This record gives sequence, C-alpha cells and structure tokens, in this order.
Amino acid sequence: MESVTLLAVSKTFPAPAVREAVACGLHRFGENYVQEALDKMEALADLRDRLEWHLIGPLQSNKTRVVAEHFDWVHSVDRLKIAERLSAQRPSHLPPLQICLQVNISGEASKSGLNPDEVAATAQAVAALPGLRLRGLMAIPEPAETLPAQRQPHAALRRLLEQLRAQGLALDTLSMGMTADLEAAVLEGATIVRVGTAIFGSRPPVPRG
Ligand SMILES: *Cc1c(COP(=O)(O)O)cnc(C)c1O
Repeated sequence: MESVTLLAVSKTFPAPAVREAVACGLHRFGENYVQEALDKMEALADLRDRLEWHLIGPLQSNKTRVVAEHFDWVHSVDRLKIAERLSAQRPSHLPPLQICLQVNISGEASKSGLNPDEVAATAQAVAALPGLRLRGLMAIPEPAETLPAQRQPHAALRRLLEQLRAQGLALDTLSMGMTADLEAAVLEGATIVRVGTAIFGSRPPVPRG
C-alpha cells in the first residue's frame, strides 16, 4: 500500500496547540481561514522551516496575494481565475505553490468546487501556469453513514484523477478523507487525509453561511 500523508487540520485551534502538535512530530497543518492562518504563522515563525502550511478552505480573489506569499499548498482551487492570480503572485524566490483542484464530487448545490465535467479543461490550464505545480484533486464528499456509501464519492474522485493522468497530466495527490470518513478515503486511495477533530478534539460550532 502507498503511504498516506496526514495533514493536521488546526483551524480554530490556537498557535500553542499547533506548537504542541509539532513537538509530537506533526509538521503539516491545514487551515481554512486565511487571516487566522497568517496570525498562527506569525506566532510560529521560529518553526517556519520545519512546517508546511496548507490552505483547505474557500479562497476569494482578494486574498490570493497573501496566500501565494505565505502558504505551501492550496487544496481549494475551484476556478482558473484564482489559479492564474496565485501563479502571478507567487514570489519568485519560493518554490511553486502546490495545488489541488477542489471538485464538487457529490454534486451538492451549496458546495464549492468544480463540477466533475469542468475538471479536465481546468486542470490542463492550471498545469501550464509557471508559479504553480498542480498535484491532484481534493473533495469534501457529502456525509454518509455506511462505509460503502462513504466509499462511492471517494472512488469517483479517484477515477477522475486516473482520467487526468491518462490525459498526460503528472498528478500524484488525492486529498480526501476527514475524521468521519477517513477509512473510506484511504481504501479508495487517498494520499493526503485532512484530519482535525481526531487530532485536536472537537471544535466549537461556527456559524456557516
Ligand atoms: C475542518 C476540515 C477538515 C477536518 O475535519 P475533521 O472532521 O475535524 O477531521 C478537513 N477538510 C476540510 C476542508 C475542513 O474544512
């Protein structure tokens, strides 16, 4: 079996909690909110060389510059325009920003992400951008109760990645699986699982729009 990378989702948890996780051996952290992440990066600046920061939450075009300047990965790219801005704004002294395209794999009307039928064209265009390195696909499937039901959308994302590879794109990343559907995601070939609750404990509920 290929190895699965654990991304520790530290959103809503303060910098000292991240520092403690680093002491326990974790060094890849996922954040949803840009300003919250920037504050934590500043508080943990002494650890910067050892840490990888991944943006996994929605990204508005007015935030692309700070993201291009401060993050290592963005999993939530869902429009070519956002990718173009990130590429143009990535500082030349940094390595390319690592990118996943977010796919609305369960077809939920309220969810962000590309529709599956838009992914191929967007992937080809993003792969050509010089400031970025397209690594693969990310999804947040609709919650399901049983393991077989959880596996379905993860399998669909894996097949989509396989199609892109067959079209000549060198992609190696399936960012899928959270605390509740981790096992299903790994069974379907996740290469990065994004785990918050199982590492840091439960978060206070936040109002969602
Ligand atoms: C919050 C979040 C996670 C982690 O969720 P848990 O259920 O706490 O493991 C993973 N991915 C994304 C995109 C998230 O917003």
